[in-house]
Amino acid sequence: MLVRFWGTRGSIAKPGSTTVRYGGNTSCVEVRSSSGTLVVLDCGTGALGLGQALIKDGALPVNGHMLIGHTHWDHIQGFPFFAPIFVAGNEWHIYGPRGIGISLRESLSGQMQGSYFPVALRDLGAKLHYHDLIEGTLEVGDIQVTAQYLNHPALTLGYRLEADGASIVYSTDHEPYSTHRAEGNQAPFAGDEARHARFISGADLVIHDAQYTADEYPAKRGWGHSTVEYAVDVAASAGVRRLALFHHDPMRSDEAIDQLVARARQRIAQTHGAMEIFAAAEGQALELSSPVRSRPLPAREDTARWDPALAKSIHTVLVAVGNPQIHRFLEDAVADDGVRLLPVRDCDAIPAMVRSERPSLVLLEHGLKHCDAIKVCRTLREDRSAGGGDLPIVLLRTSENPLDQQREAEAGATDWLILPCSKEYARTRIRAWILREACRWKIAPLPDDEEQRLRSLQESGLLDTEAEERFDRFTRIAAALFEVPIAFISLVDKERQWFKSRQGMDATETPRDQAFCAHAILRNDVMQVSDAHADERFADNPLVAREPHVRFYAGAPLSLGSGSPVGTLCVVDHRPRSFDEDQLSLLRDLSKLVEREFQIKPADVAVKRTTI
Ligand SMILES: [Zn+2]
Ligand SMILES: [Zn+2]
Repeated sequence: MLVRFWGTRGSIAKPGSTTVRYGGNTSCVEVRSSSGTLVVLDCGTGALGLGQALIKDGALPVNGHMLIGHTHWDHIQGFPFFAPIFVAGNEWHIYGPRGIGISLRESLSGQMQGSYFPVALRDLGAKLHYHDLIEGTLEVGDIQVTAQYLNHPALTLGYRLEADGASIVYSTDHEPYSTHRAEGNQAPFAGDEARHARFISGADLVIHDAQYTADEYPAKRGWGHSTVEYAVDVAASAGVRRLALFHHDPMRSDEAIDQLVARARQRIAQTHGAMEIFAAAEGQALELSSPVRSRPLPAREDTARWDPALAKSIHTVLVAVGNPQIHRFLEDAVADDGVRLLPVRDCDAIPAMVRSERPSLVLLEHGLKHCDAIKVCRTLREDRSAGGGDLPIVLLRTSENPLDQQREAEAGATDWLILPCSKEYARTRIRAWILREACRWKIAPLPDDEEQRLRSLQESGLLDTEAEERFDRFTRIAAALFEVPIAFISLVDKERQWFKSRQGMDATETPRDQAFCAHAILRNDVMQVSDAHADERFADNPLVAREPHVRFYAGAPLSLGSGSPVGTLCVVDHRPRSFDEDQLSLLRDLSKLVEREFQIKPADVAVKRTTI
């Protein structure tokens, strides 16, 4: 991949004699894969020069992809001056995070309203396609892009690009989640801090926000930017090969940036690290090729695309907070966001409320009277059937305490919100926690005849009965025949799937939201998922991400006669596989035998019951 910097400055353009070498234009980076896919990272004022260069190259059309991290001015001001979008025949795909309540297109057109700019967005010559993103992965030409939220007062995505055996991470406008780390101290990585380290891990090049120094940070806390010290530490600990300091403060002269680079190199030398560090300079180009093919993050097919259903859904957040001021603050923060805050008076009631309310997030005040946060975390994590296994649990703290936080993380806390913080900051983080959960997997819709289906399942008398040899023999045969570690007969109940027979797993039931079988009963033939990691319905399903680590699934629907299937006979493997026609047909055959078993015994039981 070729990388060329067109704008490296943060906040506002700063041309002049003090910024000649590193440049005065704001964020814009050109990336090209060897096969020619063109990606523009952010569209700050540097985009003017890039646009001119693209047009001057002569060959038309000029097509490309633009990945916008967020829509603060310094990242989009070059958009109305980017020449290729004015030329008919060109085609551009523009991607960016969906802002709170506002689409990417609306944000971009806002700065082109008549009072700011003479040409409206709709009058541009090129064909433009807008894509609202959430966290996830998508394919852009031959480049695999993974988007992950950063820590900034506006919802901001960082991008990891993988192509030609190399990887680049663009991570700007990001504040460390931990003040300790921002100030250059060592602290364990946990919560989102650990996620960020994983996101950049092993990359050949990380272009990272490094606007401030640790000394300057206390006065800039909450502004959404990194310190040089943090950028060096996180990149070094993540095994990054090259670090480009980026988003230079507008007040930083060329000489001052030289000094920052020297300090950063000294810092890495003290730890005997080998990471190469430089400050990104306007006009600088690098060719990236990885001698050892870097390991791409697991692909999750197009999971990064915003699902319009998310805008309509109302998310519930359980809030266990004693201080009424904090409660009001949270209410204000999410007021415009379609989020319902549900106060919790008694912490012991949280698991039951999680079961009944299906919240997207739990916010728990640390040190709340009569409430043991660690115990709540543990109970929820253990109570998988309540749906608490993967629910984000965020602790509200008034100060950081790395050791305490590590204990909380071990008990199952997802993250922390350190108070006080700005309303915008709280809103952005809450939004990210909710959206992150929402994008993970698709919950199966209900069959049209759901009521009837549930009634016949109830009447079958199969639910919650003892294990029976006549069913176990089928799951045993299936496991052996298809050489899989797991086989089971699942009955899809109202809120759960319950296993009538199971081989190779301990759980007796799982929430219906997570059940592959809830999808399988929507069809009349075998449903096969060859690789759950590459399937947007399942990539982030907890049953895939954690135990039992489903990678391959094949399920044959089981019916009780008429109406939608009530369950499935299925086999699961930990590796990607694909059944051929013969195997599918054997699974069908077995499922017919199970169905016959359904027909025989329950009828007898029913007769006995009525005659006694
Ligand atoms: Zn910025
Ligand atoms: Zn910003």
